[in-house]
Amino acid sequence: MYNIVTYPDPVLRTRADEILEIDDELHEIIEEMTETMYVKDGVGLAANQIGLTKRLIIVDAGEGLMVLINPVLTVPEDARADSMDEGCLSLPDIRVDVTRPDRVHLTALDPDNKSIDLIADGLLARVLQHETDHLNGKMIIDHISSITRRLLRTKLRKLEKSHTEAS
Ligand SMILES: [Zn+2]
Repeated sequence: MYNIVTYPDPVLRTRADEILEIDDELHEIIEEMTETMYVKDGVGLAANQIGLTKRLIIVDAGEGLMVLINPVLTVPEDARADSMDEGCLSLPDIRVDVTRPDRVHLTALDPDNKSIDLIADGLLARVLQHETDHLNGKMIIDHISSITRRLLRTKLRKLEKSHTEAS
C-alpha cells in the first residue's frame, strides 16, 4: 500500500504528465492506489498524492470505482455554482468550503484504453474536479478566500513543521 503525500510536499504542486502508454506497470499502480483509497476511506485519489506525476485519478463517490487516465473536464453551460465542505487526504484535519460547478463533462481513458465520455453531477462532479485539480498542482486551499486561509494558518503551519521534521 502507498503512503499518502501530504502538504506542503512539492509533488502536490507539480503538474502531472500525460500518460502515453497503459502498461502492466500502470495497472499495478492503479491496483495499489485503489487499495490505498479504500483503506484511507477516501472518495478519490490522484497520482500526485502517492508521489507520482502521472495524469491518473481514481474516484468512488458511491457509484462504484472509476479509474480515469488523462481526464479532461469542461463545464457545461447549464452548470450552476455549488458550495460544499471538502477534505483532502493530503491535508489532514482540514475542511474548507469550496464552490464549484455542479456539473462537468468528463472525457478520459479507462485502464483498457477505452474512451470515457460522460456528464457527471452532484458529488461525482465535485470529486472529479477535486482530483483533477491535484493533477494540475492545485489543492482545496487555493479555492478559499484569504480570510479563511488566515484562519487555517495555524493548521497549515503545523503540517509544514511536521513535514520538515519527517524529511
Ligand atoms: Zn485531495
